[in-house]
Amino acid sequence: MSNFKRPWHEHYPPEIPATLHYDLKPLHQYLEESASLYGEKKALYFMGKELTYREVHEQAKGVASYLQSLGLEKGDRVSIMLPNCPQSVIAYYGVLMAGGIVVQTNPLYMERELEYQLTDSGAKMIICLDVLYPKAANVKPNTPLEHIIVTGIKDYLPFPKNKIYPFIQKRQYQVLVRPEQSTDTHLWTHMMETTDGKVAPVDVDPSEDLALLQYTGGTTGFPKGVMLTHFNLIVNTQMSKKWLYKCKDGEETVLAILPFFHVYGMTSVMNLSVMMGNKMILMPKFEAEDVLKVIDKQRPTLFPGAPTIYIALLNHPNLKKYDLSSIEACISGSAPLPVEVQEQFEEVTGGKLVEGYGLTETSPVTHSNFVWGKRISGSIGVPWPDTDAKIFRMDMDEEAEAGEIGEIAVKGPQVMKGYWNRPEETAQVLSEDGWFRTGDMGYMTEDGYFYIVDRKKDMIIAGGYNIYPREVEEVLYEHSEVQEAVVVGVPDPYRGETVKAFIVKKQGSDITEDELNEYCRKNMAAYKVPRIYEFRDELPKTAVGKILRRKLVDEEREKLEGS
Ligand code: AMP
Repeated sequence: MSNFKRPWHEHYPPEIPATLHYDLKPLHQYLEESASLYGEKKALYFMGKELTYREVHEQAKGVASYLQSLGLEKGDRVSIMLPNCPQSVIAYYGVLMAGGIVVQTNPLYMERELEYQLTDSGAKMIICLDVLYPKAANVKPNTPLEHIIVTGIKDYLPFPKNKIYPFIQKRQYQVLVRPEQSTDTHLWTHMMETTDGKVAPVDVDPSEDLALLQYTGGTTGFPKGVMLTHFNLIVNTQMSKKWLYKCKDGEETVLAILPFFHVYGMTSVMNLSVMMGNKMILMPKFEAEDVLKVIDKQRPTLFPGAPTIYIALLNHPNLKKYDLSSIEACISGSAPLPVEVQEQFEEVTGGKLVEGYGLTETSPVTHSNFVWGKRISGSIGVPWPDTDAKIFRMDMDEEAEAGEIGEIAVKGPQVMKGYWNRPEETAQVLSEDGWFRTGDMGYMTEDGYFYIVDRKKDMIIAGGYNIYPREVEEVLYEHSEVQEAVVVGVPDPYRGETVKAFIVKKQGSDITEDELNEYCRKNMAAYKVPRIYEFRDELPKTAVGKILRRKLVDEEREKLEGS
């Protein structure tokens, strides 16, 4: 983009150019380069165990070679269903090296959700945690899945006698598979012992070939696979590196609490760390005091997170016991960052905390405040290098004026190729000339700072997780005693929003809240389960019978304002 000049560029410090030069190479090549530049340097820290860049690279080659021996071919999809642990990094790069496309799968998914994602993506293989194996095995006959590779936390962390790590409950932990009895189930340890690490070369075209299918509801509700190319992910990682221009390659330590199965953790933590040769402190689960302890002991310098994470740390009764002064820079994304949280966190750590913005469809970051430079609290900041942004008048092709609220649209090299197998839904959000409509409502000031005011879509964000009402409603509708169901997000002081379900029972039904709740817990991931139920005789509807979800949302807001 030569003559690319927009009002926000006036605020850019000289260290950040408006357009960058990008490398056209496969994403996994960065791991190879870091292994050759920083071979013996620590890449990963996981609950006391460390792995060097050389080890991570060797093991990723081991995965790639093993997957190829199982028949993985270029473009085949492989689901990774793991929390943050060494295997989640090794498997990710291994799949890419083998020519595969990673399908990130949330380890909290229930069978129904897993089955949908595996079928939709056509994943042939899955790499999952041992405690999740029964789910994968149960859905396998109904999906294109051919092979299951099972790994346990203990594969990298021998369990000392009598000690079970807190995120695995003792009764859940059993040896579930015996690879010698099965040709389609493989143990990670067996894979590592038998693989020869020889990877057949794959010819990757970084701008065309997909690295990732990342599932999101987007603007229209039902989960769709966002197609992100190697180039999409590389450019967003390089932009992020430039934005953090004071950080030094090979010298930073990054707190990896954001899950890698979400695009934000995957790009802004994992890919960025590997590109820079940084050390990642892997945390499989968020427990506020564990995070405080790890910061105190491991001294991370970078801490990408989400508002709920910073809020939980600031409110922890033992906060003062820990030294958080190693933290230099944090970018907060995924939901609005309250100004008090920003100020308090900066005071406690002495580092910078700035708000950014993005979506799965944009790899993810498009906007951010400057870490070192002008920033405006309450604003999502300005577009990143090579990223153009504008506001469209609602449902129109006209551009809004400065200060006028409309739909935020972005254009840039981090914008997805489209939704997997859904050309119509792609066309609804992505124009032929590359403008992607985000579904977020906001405005831009004269000098190019952007603000978010609402979401056009119905998505609920609770505790950093995206919840699509339609998905929860479909499960509720499947209950034999539910006549109508509408799910909305209601304000919640801790989770930001929480899920509320309005239910009309079938005639004669006397189903209770507890029974419905139990049913939901069995059929969806815990974070999606409604926390509040309200039974009504009827729901507000339009003349054509469409339920007025917006009216219910407004009623909830009014109730809160009146209280
Ligand atoms: P995801 O695709 O999971 O990354 O979710 C993207 C959505 O998160 C966006 O469309 C926004 O609605 C929301 N989001 C991300 N960052 C922010 C922010 N700083 N303020 C408000 N909403 C945000």
